[in-house]
Amino acid sequence: MVSPLKKIISYKLWVISLIVFLFLTHNSALITQHHSFAQAPRYIRVAIFQDVSYLRLKIKGSYEIIDSTSNKVLNRGKNLNTTVTVYSQGLLLGNIRCNTNKLFIKPYYAESIIINGRVFRGDVQLIKDNTKLSVINYIDLEDYVKGISVRETSHYWPIDSLKAQVIVFRTFAFYKMQENAQKDFDLTSDVYSQLYGGRAAERYRINKVVDETAGLVLTYQGKIFPAFYHATCGGHTDDAVLLWNIDIPPLKGVVCNFCQDSPHFKWHNVLSQEEVKDALAKGGLRIENIKDILILGRDKSNRITDLKIVDDKKDMKISAKDFRNTLGPNVIKSTNFQVKVIDHDIVFEGFGWGHGVGLCQWGAYFMAKQGYTYKQILGYYYPGTQISSIPNC
Ligand SMILES: [Zn+2]
Repeated sequence: MVSPLKKIISYKLWVISLIVFLFLTHNSALITQHHSFAQAPRYIRVAIFQDVSYLRLKIKGSYEIIDSTSNKVLNRGKNLNTTVTVYSQGLLLGNIRCNTNKLFIKPYYAESIIINGRVFRGDVQLIKDNTKLSVINYIDLEDYVKGISVRETSHYWPIDSLKAQVIVFRTFAFYKMQENAQKDFDLTSDVYSQLYGGRAAERYRINKVVDETAGLVLTYQGKIFPAFYHATCGGHTDDAVLLWNIDIPPLKGVVCNFCQDSPHFKWHNVLSQEEVKDALAKGGLRIENIKDILILGRDKSNRITDLKIVDDKKDMKISAKDFRNTLGPNVIKSTNFQVKVIDHDIVFEGFGWGHGVGLCQWGAYFMAKQGYTYKQILGYYYPGTQISSIPNC
């Protein structure tokens, strides 16, 4: 016989157990829900191949091929090694005919898609456009930031300079995701395809900084903006309105006294008449004999606005931006320069490397060396901005 007291105790224990069980399951559900919400994938779409007629595709392990339009699974399999071409009705994967112009390839394992010998993370989308095809890589934004950070900065740099830069890279990428939401992809990048050799290319310190700042972006008045950056400003960052007609307070340009010791603070280049003439001719400007190059104006950051090329017969006006792009951004490292024509040589002496808008990366390096935090660095180069979490992140 079980005594009434024992019955009551066991009933109480049962009720307490039930409450504890409900509490735990309720909370674990909440935690799971919150966890899956916080970890919700946020894909950036990068065009990795455009307008090609043939690809070599390899998938390691299980995969699904899905029609992007109807979301129907067209094919399931394991270990694919085939070619991709187009045919009149759609896309052809070896002898698998996919009667659609857009399809997704979803591998079961990460980093198991190999296209033309290169490994890609995430999923890929194949898009047929007439007789050509393009490949869009869908990659988690944080993985993308890890990939580009390795290329855009050095993992040896001070942590706060890395944090500032990683937030800038993420902001720029997220801006492109918003800007191009209605298009087939967010970004194209030639350098991108060199980046994703797999995780072997990543660096521990940068990955740690990306993880620690996950989801953080810069906003101005609650809105994302194109957080441009460049290697070295040479003394003053530039106003985005002059280059791209973007007129917002964070991108108006600031004095920078931090990058004087950057290896790119000063530059010097001597080009021959022929080199300059050939480059200008490729850009559509024919010049017989460069007698002189005159600077017509400079902006408040001392960058040249326009130049006049003095020929034997006629003079030609060109914007400094076009002049730099025509000769090559690594030949004319910035538009802040002096130029002299000395006999057959054209001598350039300049300051800084890059377009000069937004964050000066070497300035950020030296600010961090002097003890400034990433928040101070970002506040300095992008005045009036806030650090925010990506909405719903
Ligand atoms: Zn600077």
